[in-house]
Amino acid sequence: MEEKTIYLDYAATTPISADVYKKMLECYSNYNGNSSSLYKLGREADAVLEEAREKVAKAIGAEPSEIYFTSGGTESNNWAIKGIARANKMRGNHIITSAIEHPSILESCRELEKEGFKVTYIPVDENGVVDYASIIKAISPSTILISIMMANNEVGSLQPIRAIAELAKQNKICFHTDAVQAIGSLNINVKELGVDALSISAHKIYGPKGVGALYIKKGVKIEKFMSGGRQERNLRAGTVNVPLCAGLGEAIEIATTNLDEKVKNVRIVRKYFQKKLSEAIHNISLNGHPTQRLANNCSITFEGAESEAVVMMLDSVGIYASTGSACESGSSMPSHVLLAMGRDIEQVRTTVRFTFGEEITKEDVDIAVEKIRKVVKKIRSVSAIRIYKNKVEL
Ligand SMILES: *Cc1c(COP(=O)(O)O)cnc(C)c1O
Repeated sequence: MEEKTIYLDYAATTPISADVYKKMLECYSNYNGNSSSLYKLGREADAVLEEAREKVAKAIGAEPSEIYFTSGGTESNNWAIKGIARANKMRGNHIITSAIEHPSILESCRELEKEGFKVTYIPVDENGVVDYASIIKAISPSTILISIMMANNEVGSLQPIRAIAELAKQNKICFHTDAVQAIGSLNINVKELGVDALSISAHKIYGPKGVGALYIKKGVKIEKFMSGGRQERNLRAGTVNVPLCAGLGEAIEIATTNLDEKVKNVRIVRKYFQKKLSEAIHNISLNGHPTQRLANNCSITFEGAESEAVVMMLDSVGIYASTGSACESGSSMPSHVLLAMGRDIEQVRTTVRFTFGEEITKEDVDIAVEKIRKVVKKIRSVSAIRIYKNKVEL
């Protein structure tokens, strides 16, 4: 009999919801015009696009004219960082971000450093929360941009975005936040939060891969990132992929409807997992803030059990989890997030991330925990010798 697989990697990507898929199919069947064309076929496609833009705007409390479609969270982050920095370089060359940002933020900052920008990477505490006092200290008259993520993708810690936005405002500094993991988990209103730019991705909220959006508050100076035609109010060139954008519109509308109820359920199941796991396996610890965290995230360090072995053996028994983040798990690079949180290399190498979605039930958790218990026990039984030997040799 085929074993039931249990997917516990919702932070890497989610399946597409049936309603999103239906909406996209409808677009592929009926709206194949170029949304920039003037004739009826184009106008119809444009109407679908604008409907999607309104949905994205409504989901985060923005105006439709402040929403720009992109190819995903990575592009939104690249554009926000590079576009805002370059457009404001007359005012200064200093950027503040954190040590635990997504690679699309960190690598964008590194590129800007080559152009002469100075970047301060704010440290985090052992819970993976950015140090607010360090941000205050880092601000100088040349600071033009602060970018801090709303919630971390590896350990789930929530960041004090409202306070940082306020601080940025007082100092007339532009504030961007990567909200890719936060959408669908937290109630977000850009006006209440006081952010100037915010990144969104569809495939983390049951939408399609390859589409996202950047919220840019009216009046914020940002350079064009893609050169070409005058699409997206002349700020993001390229023929717009209407079905994907419609998919994002649908996904974000669903994700933000009855959010509290859905998040509550996911939190219950994740906490149940955490409890069951700690009852079943000794010497494990949770990474990230114990309470100020994403409802669906459970990052666990299994002392003495190498995470790559755990993930691969879990795969063979139908459980999908990841080492660190999807972006880095393809390589053997140790997680920059866990290192920034002060974990040693041994702890980093024995950490597995489990992230939950609406479909996961307590029954799934029971099955998963039993399989994880067996896998960890097996790996520990062999690797204990190696660790012991290493200690003797040292
Ligand atoms: C997934 C992710 C991104 C990248 O989004 P893509 O749409 O996959 O490019 C950016 N930031 C965070 C926090 C993410 O989790």
